[in-house]
Amino acid sequence: MRILISNDDGYLAPGIIALAHALAPIAEIVVVAPDSNRSGSSNSLTLDRPLSVFRAENGFYFVNGTPSDCVHVALTGVLSYKPDLVVSGINQGQNMGDDTLYSGTVAAATEGFLFGIPSIAFSQVQKGWDQLEAAARVAREIVEKQFDALPKPYLLNVNIPNRPYHEIKPLIATRLGKRHQSESVIRAHDPSGREIFWIGPVGAAKDAGEGTDFDAVAKGHVSVTPLQIDLTHATQLEALKKGLL
Ligand code: MN
Repeated sequence: MRILISNDDGYLAPGIIALAHALAPIAEIVVVAPDSNRSGSSNSLTLDRPLSVFRAENGFYFVNGTPSDCVHVALTGVLSYKPDLVVSGINQGQNMGDDTLYSGTVAAATEGFLFGIPSIAFSQVQKGWDQLEAAARVAREIVEKQFDALPKPYLLNVNIPNRPYHEIKPLIATRLGKRHQSESVIRAHDPSGREIFWIGPVGAAKDAGEGTDFDAVAKGHVSVTPLQIDLTHATQLEALKKGLL
C-alpha cells in the first residue's frame, strides 16, 4: 500500500511526524506538507505565484503553500504513481461539525478524494499533543481496516479523544454536529495605533446530540464521519422547483 501524508499544521508538527512513524511499518509513505502552519486555510489553492517543493533531512517534502496545494502538487507533479490512500493530520485540535468547512486538515484529505483516492483526515480532540502516540496507533488501525465495504473513493473525517490507548473507546460512525456562531473577534491596536482584529475562537457545540461527532468524542469514542462534497440543499431545491422561481 502506498500512502500520501499531508496536514495543515506544517511538516514539522508533532502530529504528522507521529502519523508518518505509525504508518511507515505498514505502507510505503510519502509526506508532502505545508512549510508552516496553515490551519484554517480550507480548500484554498495558491494561484497567484508558483509553488516550490523542498526536501527536509528526514525525507519529508514541504511546500510553500496550502494543504490543498500540497496534495494537488504531490498528485500531479511529485509522485510518479497514484497512491492508494491519502491521509491528513494528525491535527492539533478537533475538526467537528462546521469546523470541517474551514479545516485545512480536512481539505488536504478532500483534495485526495477529488482525485478519486480514498482519503482520511485525522484530528485529536484537544490541542497540545497529549496522548499523541495513542492517537497515531488508532490512526494506523483505521488505515489497516481499509473499509472495503465502502464504495471508493471515500472521504472520512476522524476525531480521536486525547486518552491513553486503552481508555479510548471503539469507533463510532457519526454525522457532523453543528456549532453556535463563532465567538467575537478580538480587537487590539498595532504599534502605530491602527485598530487590528484577530479572528476569535470557534463557537460551542449547538447540535451535539446522539449520533453526532461531538457526542461520540464526549463519550470517549473515536468519531468517524463519512463526508461528501455536494452542498446542494435537496429540500430547498424541491421548493424552488415547485414554482418559487
Ligand atoms: Mn491544524
